Amino acid sequence: MLHRLDNKRYLLWLALGTATMAVVMAVMLVLQVTQNQAIREGGQMRADSLTAMAFQFEREFLRFRQTLDVAVRTPAQSDLDELSLRYDIFVSRLNLLRDNPSTDALLKRPEFVKALPLVDQLIERTDIELAKTPLNMATLGDVLKDFNAVGPDVQALSLAADSLVTRLVEQQKNDLLRKSEHIIWLTLAQLVLLLAAAGALAIRQRRQEDERQALEKLTQDLRDAKFEAESANRGKSQFLANMSHELRTPFNGILGMLSLLEDSPLNTQQTDYIQTVRGSANHLMSLLNDILDVSALEAGKLTLKEGPVNLHSLLLNVEALMRPLAADKKLSFTADIQSALAQWVHADSTRIKQILFNLINNGIKFTTQGNVTLTVRRSQDAGSANGLEFEVRDTGIGISPKGMTRLFQRFYQLDSGIDRKFGGTGLGLEISQSLANMMGGGITVQSTVGVGSAFTLTLPLTPCEAPADATTVETQPSEVSTTAPETPDPATVPGAGPSSHQTPATATAPRVLVVEDHPVNSKFVGVLLSRLGCETVFCEDGQQALDKAKEQMFDLILMDINMPVMDGLTATRAIRALPSAIAQVPIIVLTADIMNEARDQALAAGATDFLTKPVQIAQFRATMQHHLKDLSKH
Ligand code: ADP
Repeated sequence: MLHRLDNKRYLLWLALGTATMAVVMAVMLVLQVTQNQAIREGGQMRADSLTAMAFQFEREFLRFRQTLDVAVRTPAQSDLDELSLRYDIFVSRLNLLRDNPSTDALLKRPEFVKALPLVDQLIERTDIELAKTPLNMATLGDVLKDFNAVGPDVQALSLAADSLVTRLVEQQKNDLLRKSEHIIWLTLAQLVLLLAAAGALAIRQRRQEDERQALEKLTQDLRDAKFEAESANRGKSQFLANMSHELRTPFNGILGMLSLLEDSPLNTQQTDYIQTVRGSANHLMSLLNDILDVSALEAGKLTLKEGPVNLHSLLLNVEALMRPLAADKKLSFTADIQSALAQWVHADSTRIKQILFNLINNGIKFTTQGNVTLTVRRSQDAGSANGLEFEVRDTGIGISPKGMTRLFQRFYQLDSGIDRKFGGTGLGLEISQSLANMMGGGITVQSTVGVGSAFTLTLPLTPCEAPADATTVETQPSEVSTTAPETPDPATVPGAGPSSHQTPATATAPRVLVVEDHPVNSKFVGVLLSRLGCETVFCEDGQQALDKAKEQMFDLILMDINMPVMDGLTATRAIRALPSAIAQVPIIVLTADIMNEARDQALAAGATDFLTKPVQIAQFRATMQHHLKDLSKH
């Protein structure tokens, strides 16, 4: 604002300065023109020379008088032609003096005012006398007397002309001097104005330079602030990722103990309480998973784990997990899968399932009666040859047009009342959309309030060959477990109750080394292993595990990653490097870190398999059965 005011004032001064300069130059021009004219007039005056005219008049006056004198005194010798010629020249000189415009000032002089009428009278008489033939010398003698009488007056005319010209020249000189003084002053004024304009321009230039520098500094500050904000944001994402990871470890203990409690003899009220705790725990778990995903997506740390995926078994898996959820709400859930679809596609099965779970889970959550359907078909978009559409349609509450515009925004929930009733974080759709985008696809939605919604996930999925070991690719237990949101754990562990923990292992029982620094987790895994009929040995860090592996033989090692003294990955590498047979033992890494990188790092360190916390009992049992062949008997 202040700057704009300054600018206005500056422009005003500039306009004023320019106008003054123009006026000064105009005045100078006028002065120059008049001076020029004066000089020209001066020149003209010199040419016609007043003095010369007056002098010539006087001379011709004297010549004629002399000729007349000769004629009067010696008439015999007189040359009348000469007399007449002299007279004519004299008269013409008088006329010249009188008719010339430059002699106006001269004719007004008193000497002229006095002399000219006398000369005129004289000429009148002379004309008459000279017209007589023969000439009358007596009367001409009178004329001569008159000429002699006027002589001094005619002489005075030359002097008057001389003094007039001197005065005029003096006046002209003074005039020129005055004008040139004016021109000098005006030139000085112009110089001052010019200097002022140059100064103003320099100030303006300086100010512009200052402004440019200020702007540059501002841009730099903004860049710094943006960088700081981005680092703060990255820091926040990192903090969230760390926090949710740290929370998962004790949470693993809670869920584990809850599973054991559910398995113990309970009365109806206790069962109800436990179910409530289980519901809250599942909600908290999905919240943690979502926060972890969002922060990983923001930090750019979430990478896709692509490989051959059996599309049909993936969809059957999804259907099997979702159907009980729909049945709980007395809704029908059907999956309509186009038979012509490729069996094997190149994809990240975990992330596809995560999106489908979220969409179907939402469909079930926001539908009170009717049905939820999953339709999988080739994309109708002509542009994508390998495009597949996964449409999840429900007959639920629907979404208003205003809600549709904000649907994929973080923490956005259309009706908090419903979400309080059904749980949810408001992160699911944002994560799903981001994942779909990462896979080169997207999610679109159509909805009518009170009629229902249809969410369509479109993905480009390239068909591929079935891998050699086809059974292990899609059905890996760890992939299924990490993503199912709030699904009731379908697993129950048959066999002994908590008391079986104390049951001594039989002579043929597989020996399992549990490497875990968290006592609750050790206890939980110990109970599960005991129920499976294993003999369990515990230690609290990688170094202890390595020492034990050097002394004893085990059938399997369960290895945590983050531990004091020596972490699980170092211990795994060290065990694999041992010279004895123990180097071949199956090592199952068990960690709360669910990132793809953690899995890759574990396998690269030599781990046989990878399980994430919180441990799902069914998944744990399946993995143990897979790696401990003897267990199938239990
Ligand atoms: P949430 O964990 O709350 O389900 P989402 O991001 O998955 O988070 O969904 C955001 C919001 O979008 C939900 O809270 C709900 O209000 C609305 N929404 C999502 N799916 C549906 C649906 N099928 N029918 C009606 N509303 C839905």
